[in-house]
This record gives sequence, structure tokens and C-alpha cells, in this order.
Amino acid sequence: MLYQSTRGFDKKVTGAEAIAYGLADDGGLFVPQFFPSLRPEMLLKLVDETYSKRAAYIISLFMDDFDINELNEYTSRAYSCDFDNAGVAPLYELDSNTRFLELWHGPTCAFKDMALQIMPELLTASLKKTNETRSVCILVATSGDTGKAALEGFRDIPGTKIMVFYPRDGVSEVQKHQMISQAGDNVGVTAIEGNFDDAQRGVKEIFSDKTISDELNGSGYFLSSANSINWGRLVPQVAYYISAYNDLLKQGCIKPGEKINFCVPTGNFGNILAAYYAERMGLPVNKLICASNRNDVLTQFIKTGVYDRNRPFYTTVSPSMDILVSSNLERLLYELAGKDGTAVTSYMSSLSEKGKYSISGRVSDELNRVFYSGSCSEEDTMKTINGLYVNSGYLIDTHTAVAYKVLNDYRSETGDKSVSVVVSTASPYKFCESVLAALDIPVGSAGGVDLIDKLAEITGCEIPAPLLALKTAAVRFNNSVSLTGMKKAVMDFVGKR
Ligand SMILES: *Cc1c(COP(=O)(O)O)cnc(C)c1O
Repeated sequence: MLYQSTRGFDKKVTGAEAIAYGLADDGGLFVPQFFPSLRPEMLLKLVDETYSKRAAYIISLFMDDFDINELNEYTSRAYSCDFDNAGVAPLYELDSNTRFLELWHGPTCAFKDMALQIMPELLTASLKKTNETRSVCILVATSGDTGKAALEGFRDIPGTKIMVFYPRDGVSEVQKHQMISQAGDNVGVTAIEGNFDDAQRGVKEIFSDKTISDELNGSGYFLSSANSINWGRLVPQVAYYISAYNDLLKQGCIKPGEKINFCVPTGNFGNILAAYYAERMGLPVNKLICASNRNDVLTQFIKTGVYDRNRPFYTTVSPSMDILVSSNLERLLYELAGKDGTAVTSYMSSLSEKGKYSISGRVSDELNRVFYSGSCSEEDTMKTINGLYVNSGYLIDTHTAVAYKVLNDYRSETGDKSVSVVVSTASPYKFCESVLAALDIPVGSAGGVDLIDKLAEITGCEIPAPLLALKTAAVRFNNSVSLTGMKKAVMDFVGKR
């Protein structure tokens, strides 16, 4: 299995190279040359395996330069006791045809752990396989959850350093505390004066700055990314869609071959893209439902075929979805266009010149074959959390609420009765202030991590241990920089050994 660039001009590389390089030289993203097929008998066989065995098998189908024993070792370390649920990614049964796939049982309580607990293993192995002798400096722009999950994944991993930039006024109190109290000798955290798109653009500029790479090279470092554009982030995510299907079979909720829906709260399009990859491998999927919050650029794209980022940016209660340019959509476009790198290049140049592009014909037919999309307002997000909790006692976070609302809209619009899995991307405790507000609970003067106690007191839901520990964690990083200060922050960080 080799990987090529979505822009189509670059040479083909191995899986290890795709992970080690992050981005292709022509500016595109690495994509597998073809989708390995997931045979129905294999899907049944995986039913009796543990999550880490399932994941190792799925990853091995894409990464034939890694052997299965090696991958089993990585997945069993990654999906271990740091997860507070033995199933790692369990299904919560709401009713006979609705499940929540809880992807937040890892050490940082958001779905990013599913990829970022194993990505450092894959990256360090990839660097060895590609004979890289320099150390890697990981740069991350985060809308909140990636930053913490990447810090936790790379903490004290030899031969790595990691620096995270987050939008100063764009993350929740708990998210911020998680990051600024991060432990580890190889970590750095800086707030930027701007939103997530600004942070992402700043990091992209640093990646393409020759002066910086030369200077870093001189000190024995090179830059890489842990954002979801890296193949090492994406491939582990394919596994939980297949694992969810295995569990539905195991529970007798579906028959072999039965098609199901996944509804995914979407921002950068990494999570739902992994679902699309699973579908292309042969997983029986009816619809992939892409749920947006008030920043509904993806919903408009899926409904109209026009991607237009020229619109206001809203800060919402589901901050991890506050994104106007979804990087991983480029990978989907590549497949929709029948692996046509020239077409992708022209969409992307139109996006950077005019802020928009449009698709038509068979490209949009393929999009509509699999995808449905809808958006959810701020008010409906809050009502959804409240309604579900009052009616069933199940507490969900703001992102998951967006997805659940959009699933309900989809069902009333289409009458589709297929079994549907709502992808639950964060513990409600990560977004306490919004969840408490949704439940109409006055918080008085309580703020910051004290809100965690408040939510526990009211709901009786167990506080995840890593969040409980925040209450006594010391702040290590409280600096912030302007957008123009990002380069210097990176140089200072790497200079510091
Ligand atoms: C990152 C994130 C999302 C969005 O996922 P994408 O892969 O960027 O589409 C949704 N919910 C939560 C809680 C997240 O952390």
C-alpha cells in the first residue's frame, strides 16, 4: 500500500513516510492509493476480539510496512488502563435503534484520544523506518480538544517535543485548565490572540517558512504536525466505526450486512472522513450524517455543492466545531472526484483565492450518495441536552447534542428507521458551564474547574478521574502571543532544551 498526494503531483510514499512527513511536498494531504476491502467474514471474526485487536487489524490493512505483532503492541499500549472503560469505545443504548458511541473514555475525555494515544507510537516507529535521525517538534493548532490530547499523547516521548497554540477566548474553562497544567518536560502551551482558524493559519505559515526549518535543522529538529491532516491521526479513527459495527452485531442489534447510519458532530472533517473510509472498505453504511453547529459551512456545502468560507465566524458552545475551513474535506474531494489531483488543486486554489469553490456532476452525486447534513442552533443545542437528560437521564456534551439534534431532524425528514449511531465526542464534564446552563442550573459565583463539582452534585454522574485531578493541578503555562509572535514562540521553545 502506497500513499499519494491529494494534489496528485508528488511521488508515492509508504505509510511510514506519510506519517513521518505529515504533508506532501506539493501542499496536498496523503491518501491511500486504494481502500483495502473488509470482507464480511472478517467483520464477523472481529466481533470476538478486543478493541485493541480490532484496531491493530484495521490499521494493518492500510499500513503494510508495519507488521501485525508490532501494531498489536502499539494498540495494546495505547488502549490500555488509561481508558476508564474496558470496551474502550463502548456503545450506550438509548433505545432499540439509537446508540451513542462514547469516544471519550481516554485520558483527556474527548474523542481525540482515540487517535492521539496511538499516534506517537506510529510516528516514532515511522521515523525509525524512514531512517530519520533528527528529533521531531510537533506543532499543533487546537480548537480545544486536540491540544490536550496531543500533549498527553506525546508527553515525555523520547525524541519529540510538542508545542500547542490555542485561541485565548475560544476554549472552555476545563479545556484551558487541562492544557495550561500539562505535565511533561518536552511540552509547551501558548494562547494566541485570535480564533482557531488564525491559529491554524499561523501554524501552516510556520511549516512553510524556510528560515525556520533551516534554523531548526541546525539544532537537530524538524517540524511535524499532529493535526488531523496527518495520516497517523486518521487511520486509527477508521477502527472505531468498524468496532461499533462489531459491537452492534455482538449485541444482536443488527444482522450481518445490515446498513446503519452514523451521525457525527463535525469540525475539521477528520472524524466523519474516517467513517467514509470505513464505508469505502465495505462497512455496511446507509448514511453518514454530518452535523454542524451555527458555523454551518459544511452543511451548506453538502446541501448545495458550494463551499463558501466568506461568512461570519461564530464562537459557539461547541467550540471544537467552530471552523470555517475543514482541512480534511480535501481528502474527501479527492475521492469524490475519482482520485483526480488536478481537480482538487483547482478547488483548493479557488478556495485560497476567492474563499469558495463549487462541485457538480458526478462529484456531487457521490457526495449525496453517502452524506446527509444538517446544522443545529445554539438554542437547540441547549434544549437537546436538557430534553435528553430530563427524558432519559443520559447526559451528553454540547458537540454530541448537535449531532443528536441533527439525527432527529434527519429522521423526521426522511422517516429512515435504520439503526443509527450518534458519535459522542466528549465527556459532558469537559463543557460544564454550557451543560449546567442547558440544565438551567444557576452556578452563582462558581467558575473554572469548580463547575465540575457542581455538575456532579446535580446529576450524580461520575467525574472522570483526569478531570477530578485538575482541581489540584498547578498552572505551568500562562503566556499568550499575537499572531505575529507565533514564530518567535516556536524558536524560543525549541531553543530551550
Ligand atoms: C475535534 C472535535 C470535534 C470535531 O471533529 P473533526 O474531526 O474535527 O470533525 C467534535 N467534537 C469534539 C468534542 C471534538 O473534540
